Formats: sequence, C-alpha cells, structure tokens
Amino acid sequence: MFVDPEHVDDEQESYRQCMRLALTEAERAMEADEVPVGAVIVRGNQVIAAAHNQRETLADPTAHAEMIAITQAASTLGDWRLTECTLFVTLEPCPMCAGAILQARIPHVVFGALDPKAGSVTSLYQLLEDRRLNHTASVTGGVLAEECGRILSDFFASQRKLGKK
Ligand code: ZN
Repeated sequence: MFVDPEHVDDEQESYRQCMRLALTEAERAMEADEVPVGAVIVRGNQVIAAAHNQRETLADPTAHAEMIAITQAASTLGDWRLTECTLFVTLEPCPMCAGAILQARIPHVVFGALDPKAGSVTSLYQLLEDRRLNHTASVTGGVLAEECGRILSDFFASQRKLGKK
C-alpha cells in the first residue's frame, strides 16, 4: 500500500481539529455540571452536529453526547443513515452509543481518551469491529487523548472536593 506521509499528516491534523470542536462541547458540559464528554459529526468538510453530555440537565440516561449528536445529524440530513459521516467523541463510546453508531451506519469513529470502565470499542469490547454483527465501523483512538482525559479527571476531582461523587 502506498502511503503518502504528507497526506497522513493532513489526516491526523484534521482529526485533531475536529477533536478540538468535540473538546469545546465537553467544556460546555463541564460548565453545566455534567460529566464533560463532547461529540461532533462531520460529513465531508462540514460539521453537521455538535453535542455534549446532558444526562443531568435532561434527566435522561440516554442523553450521552454521541446519542444527541446522532439525532441532530439525522435530523439535519433528513435520513437515519449517516453513511458518509465520521463521529468524533472525546471519550471512548459506551455499549449504548456503540450500538447507536452501528444503527446509524456511521462508518468511522474517532475518539480521544480510553474508558477502561465502560469503553466498548476498544477497552472492554470491540463492538464496532465485531464481524458477527451485520454492520461494522472502523475506529481511530487516542486523538488528543491527554486533553480529552484531563477535562474528565479535572471534573471528577472537583466533584470529589465538593463531596458530590
Ligand atoms: Zn454512551
């Protein structure tokens, strides 16, 4: 396979740019006292959805950043099939979100930090690459992992200080 190093650099840089947008969403979650996870969905060069975790605000256990972003993107396109989209999320998706990613037929997921306790695309399960399921998605992990992880550890440290968690 021919790999053009310049192209690879461009790709990595574009991943980082999109992940920075997802991090901005995570910061919004932080400001709202939510576990800071953010997601964006990109189609071509266009960001068609941007969302953050709103579980507390909406009192909804399904209101993870990825779920809200998927709903937004499908609504924008008027189609539940997000076959030309890439989802960027600051934290490795949980089983629910991995399931939604497959349902939406999103072909590529890029995440930041690993989630050893719930991560279901690398850490605990590899749901997106399990060929027993009738759809799969490719996974790129570790993009801006340090920043994506730091905002979470800062959040949990401040919650502990307040005696909340
Ligand atoms: Zn999730």
